[in-house]
Amino acid sequence: MKKIEHIGIAVKDLAKGNEIYNLLLGKKPYKQEEVASENVMTSFFKVGPNKVELLEATDPESPIAKFIEKRGEGIHHIAFEVKDIHKEMERLAKKGFRLLNEKPKRGADNKWVCFVHPKSANGVLIELCQNIEE
Ligand code: ZN
Repeated sequence: MKKIEHIGIAVKDLAKGNEIYNLLLGKKPYKQEEVASENVMTSFFKVGPNKVELLEATDPESPIAKFIEKRGEGIHHIAFEVKDIHKEMERLAKKGFRLLNEKPKRGADNKWVCFVHPKSANGVLIELCQNIEE
């Protein structure tokens, strides 16, 4: 694992979330991007070498909608940047971590991602991410 790449925060209203984080961080998001496969709209703020990702559900079936229903708005996941996502997935699976996808999938912000079940990591959803190089 190279570093914490970003912290994902579930919000009910992305426009309002953007305003709050704009005030908090003193900058605007550098991008807004829909991830159709996850039914979410995201926005990203740079904070030094790390990022904050805000996530709003675009559908009641979205994992973000379900998360907010259960736990309210708040920290949804922590994403770690990895050099080789396949290797990390294999390593973690061998150590008994429960991976939520078998293969890396395309996430927001030009990344391959894989999620680790919160039950495997003390109640925190973990995202592994690797830059897509094309
Ligand atoms: Zn994320």
